[in-house]
Amino acid sequence: MSDVLTMTLNNNVQIPQLGFGVFQVPPQDAERVVSTALETGYRSIDTAAAYQNEEGVGRAIASSGLPRDEIVVTTKLWNSDHGYDPALRAFDASARRLGLDTVDLYLIHWPVPAADRYVETWKALEKLAADGRVRAIGVSNFTVEHLRRLFAETGTVPAVNQIELHPHFQQTALRAEHAAHGIATEAWSPLGQGAALSDATITGLAKRHDVTPAQVVLRWHLQLGNIVIPKSVTPARIRENFDVFTFDLSTEDLSAIADLDTDRRIGPDPATFDMR
Ligand code: NAD
Repeated sequence: MSDVLTMTLNNNVQIPQLGFGVFQVPPQDAERVVSTALETGYRSIDTAAAYQNEEGVGRAIASSGLPRDEIVVTTKLWNSDHGYDPALRAFDASARRLGLDTVDLYLIHWPVPAADRYVETWKALEKLAADGRVRAIGVSNFTVEHLRRLFAETGTVPAVNQIELHPHFQQTALRAEHAAHGIATEAWSPLGQGAALSDATITGLAKRHDVTPAQVVLRWHLQLGNIVIPKSVTPARIRENFDVFTFDLSTEDLSAIADLDTDRRIGPDPATFDMR
């Protein structure tokens, strides 16, 4: 039995609150790394067409022996595939690489406002959901402005917005917008790609709770209600990041971490990022 809570998305699909991300996991390592994650107990895997490791993720799922419906698989549509027909084709290609008939959660990776096609793309995702090819649809790196355009021009509220979120970039306003519309907040680079782990407040809390800095930061995300998808290729860290259910951060601990927000991203700005 896993201690990971299950979150219910706005269309009643369920997703573990703690999952495993595979950004920058080389294609040749993906099967091994995801197999380690599944053996550890993770039941949600976050990949993307752009990560070029969907095949390895699919092989790990196939060889795990786990029933398909026990694993939540997320993948994402890349920036060069915006538009209705390109999006449908991109999905087919991802599903084929994963070796899956259905994907649990399909996300628009970036809004690319310069291309001005994300509304059209979203309509293709609605079609994939209506056809039963995906169980839930969502977005990633959408700002309040991009979300509001979807609310105004389409019929489905995203189940998830996957955004950069860590102690130095806490996204308070965007999280409030999500809460107001029933969108789950999913944190990418939850550990600040490792940078949050050397912060003195975090290391102090780790010492006090007799856990590691990564465990403090992941526990903070969970207590905030975020879905969280830490990445590591190191088996001991993969296990460490899953072992976050033996302690609680107090209200004082949480407010000490709240004070670390610098409102500065480490990743690209969604308003301008248009790498294709
Ligand atoms: P992360 O915050 O999870 O940090 C990962 C890095 O932190 C590792 O490479 C390692 O160096 C270090 N680390 C991990 N566990 C550790 C531990 N226990 N102790 C010490 N160091 C540790 O960063 P990430 O990989 O950028 O983000 C996680 C996942 O989010 C990705 O794998 C991907 O699935 C997703 N993501 C999505 C987007 C997006 O645009 N939607 C962007 C980036 C990442």
